[in-house]
Amino acid sequence: MSEFNLIRRYFTRATPSAVLGVGDDAALLSVRAGHELAISTDMLVSGTHFFPNANPFLLGHKTLAVNLSDLAAMGATPRWATLALSLPQIDEPWLAEFSRGFFALAEQHGVELVGGDTTRGALTLSVSILGEVPAGMALRREGAQIGDEIWLSGAVGAAALALAHLQGKLILSAEQFSVCAACLHQPQPRIALGQALRGIAHSAIDISDGLLADLGHILQRSGVGATLNFAALSQAVLPLAAADAAHRQRCILAGGDDYELCFTAPVCHRTQLQEIGDKLGISMILIGKIDSKLGCRVLNAEGAIMNIEEQGYDHFA
Ligand code: ADP
Ligand code: MG
Repeated sequence: MSEFNLIRRYFTRATPSAVLGVGDDAALLSVRAGHELAISTDMLVSGTHFFPNANPFLLGHKTLAVNLSDLAAMGATPRWATLALSLPQIDEPWLAEFSRGFFALAEQHGVELVGGDTTRGALTLSVSILGEVPAGMALRREGAQIGDEIWLSGAVGAAALALAHLQGKLILSAEQFSVCAACLHQPQPRIALGQALRGIAHSAIDISDGLLADLGHILQRSGVGATLNFAALSQAVLPLAAADAAHRQRCILAGGDDYELCFTAPVCHRTQLQEIGDKLGISMILIGKIDSKLGCRVLNAEGAIMNIEEQGYDHFA
């Protein structure tokens, strides 16, 4: 099969909202009046972000999901994507499943694939996602204010637990593993929540590298500090009860791959945020507060500051 037949068969779908989609030297898109274009790129490398024998359907889902999550964290509405693929060989059953997983999620969020690139090489999957946000309304990392409450769109730590199980670092029961593996392999980007947070949240980020690392970006960009409540963080993930205290702490505070949103908002929006969560079926968790003392402190159930060793994942650390 040639490169071009591959693109036609597996990656060419109707793109009614593009002026021009796959097939020319570039796609042509027009952004709605009064909107800004939000663009983000995320790459998944075999052996680093996924196991080489990963299920291709789930990989197709995740490749797009991690990108959608970045737009969710900006409060943007996803519209288009491009896909750069580096493949060791043409494996049609693999391509069929990968594209099925990719397009299933794309359709769910109204995203059209308008272009990409296909080359031979080590398995690497890179998406650029494009979305729209009403001008001036994007959620940024830099807006956190002293006194803001810090929220999560759901529990974090389950994806890291599944990974630790797969790496043989701890053992989960079959039932626990299936709960955690769904978080690791099929994250659900919080697109609707991101949009609902426009005009309410002062700052937002998605948790890809670990809570402390990612919240740290908000704190640094905003020039503020935070105090977190570990009990609020740990009560939400049931399988965590199975792990020992050290793993539990590491998975919650520094485990990556959850793709929940972490955001800050003034106290006056607390009820409204609970209502938004109820409407979207998201159990929002209030995890702490922004304060003026720089850095991030995590308090245990007794109110003492916990000793933290790991913040999150760094590819070059
Ligand atoms: P060029 O040589 O101009 O870079 P290509 O031959 O790489 O063009 O690609 C041909 C067309 O197919 C382009 O419109 C490109 O955007 C699209 N394309 C290539 N690979 C993919 C892919 N994996 N998914 C979607 N579209 C793709
Ligand atoms: Mg090309």
